[in-house]
Amino acid sequence: MTLFWHRRDLRTIDNAGLDRATAHGSVVPIFCLDDDILQYAGRPRVRFMLEALRDLRKRYRDLGTDLIVVHGDPSVQIPAVAAEYDADTVVWNDDYSGLAQERDESVEDALLSAGFDVDWVQDLVLHEPGSIRTSNGDPYSVFSYYWKKWQDREKESSYACPEADAFVGVSGNPIPGLEELGFEQPDASIPDGTRQAAIDRLRAFIEDPIFSYSDCRDVPAEACTSRLSQDLKFGLVGIREVYEATERAKSSASSSEDRESVREFQRQLAWREFYAQVLTYSPETVTENFKSYTNPISWKRDEDALDAWKRGQTGYPIVDAGMRQLLAEGYMHNRVRMIVASFLTKDLLVDWREGYRWFRDRLVDHDTANDVGGWQWAASTGTDAQPYFRIFNPMTQGERYDPEAQYITEYVEELRNVDAEIIHDWTDLSPTQREANAPAYPAPIVDHAARREAAIAMFERARADD
Ligand SMILES: Cc1cc2nc3c(=O)[nH]c(=O)nc-3n(C[C@H](O)[C@H](O)[C@H](O)COP(=O)(O)OP(=O)(O)OC[C@H]3O[C@@H](n4cnc5c(N)ncnc54)[C@H](O)[C@@H]3O)c2cc1C
Repeated sequence: MTLFWHRRDLRTIDNAGLDRATAHGSVVPIFCLDDDILQYAGRPRVRFMLEALRDLRKRYRDLGTDLIVVHGDPSVQIPAVAAEYDADTVVWNDDYSGLAQERDESVEDALLSAGFDVDWVQDLVLHEPGSIRTSNGDPYSVFSYYWKKWQDREKESSYACPEADAFVGVSGNPIPGLEELGFEQPDASIPDGTRQAAIDRLRAFIEDPIFSYSDCRDVPAEACTSRLSQDLKFGLVGIREVYEATERAKSSASSSEDRESVREFQRQLAWREFYAQVLTYSPETVTENFKSYTNPISWKRDEDALDAWKRGQTGYPIVDAGMRQLLAEGYMHNRVRMIVASFLTKDLLVDWREGYRWFRDRLVDHDTANDVGGWQWAASTGTDAQPYFRIFNPMTQGERYDPEAQYITEYVEELRNVDAEIIHDWTDLSPTQREANAPAYPAPIVDHAARREAAIAMFERARADD
């Protein structure tokens, strides 16, 4: 008998580890609610995960078995379940954050010392961290070179769902609710966490929006991206099946522009794998800057500004729209994530780690590798990051990517009846003009031009004698 331990792979189809488990013997599937991981998890994310777990359980029941759900320290719980079911081997899919690696080592030690075998495979990405290297054998720190090799590498095919007779008929225990785990219900509206909903999102995207992805991915009002991030985070879809769907789209594309657009989407999948690789080889970057400066960066402690940023009350319309989308939906458009992250670090001069913590708490799709990668890119502390002197102007960004202010007015109610032109001029208006147009919307909390100079000076002090 074999235990298959689910973690970030809440599906039965295209699951490399589950497929491997069936080769060892009849399978009992298990999931462990791990307090060490839950302590860093926000309620929108946990709510999504619990729904995905309930849905996974239904799938297993259709296959004549059940999902065993335990709660506690996995290095105690997994060996206990292995003993209860008299398993020989425990199988799982590899995961790459420092916390995940530590957990897996301690579970492996506990299992081996209790006389069980362990086996794990790579499933989360198409190209395992470390499999794409420079000619010197180092992991890449520049994305463009990594991407070139990533595209050329052959990709593994997706895995079918195992047949019902691959499983042992067991009956599982109840899955706890959010409150039982100590979380309040989130205020944000959370996407449907079922496998069917994830597949519907993938199909809807592949059918048409993928062909205009290149042109519209930066326009938040168009909402034309895949919205698969939470599904990739928790593994409601497998990366191979996503990639195969994109390849089918590429073959059916009617023009070279359409094919190029599919490639642009695949490039984002490669960013995800690039950041997984960065985290694997530099796990300390969850808390430390990837790029070291000679002197510490003198980030500003400014609780009021941080609070205004979190609540979407900075007086910079595109920033506030993004932060309010995050509060309302547990999601934010990528371009806007870049703008708000730049604003926090370069306009408010606040440490990227504060922003990372807030995103970790609020994003349904929070993924350590992508979140740290995105923050360190914006803060100019990351690998292949935005240079510290190239600072986004949040007003120009708003005007360029949301010219009609459709996205802004969707989330910033106080600006709903204000002309786009006035919205994009908000920071240059006089107090009287602001009062006349949107009395309830705040004045800008900082002056961008002055803060831009201050940010450059802050980084130049940090790199003095570099
Ligand atoms: C400051 C900051 C924080 C971020 N935090 C996260 C996070 O916690 N989790 C997360 O999944 N993404 C994160 N991203 C990357 C990106 O914003 C989201 O993946 C994307 O907005 C999700 O929407 P989508 O699924 O519609 O994306 P699509 O554009 O449809 O992209 C498809 C998939 O590719 C991957 N992807 C896309 N863009 C990136 C990127 N820049 N870096 C790495 N992978 C990418 C994601 O898995 C995404 O689901 C962050 C970006 C920034 C700038």
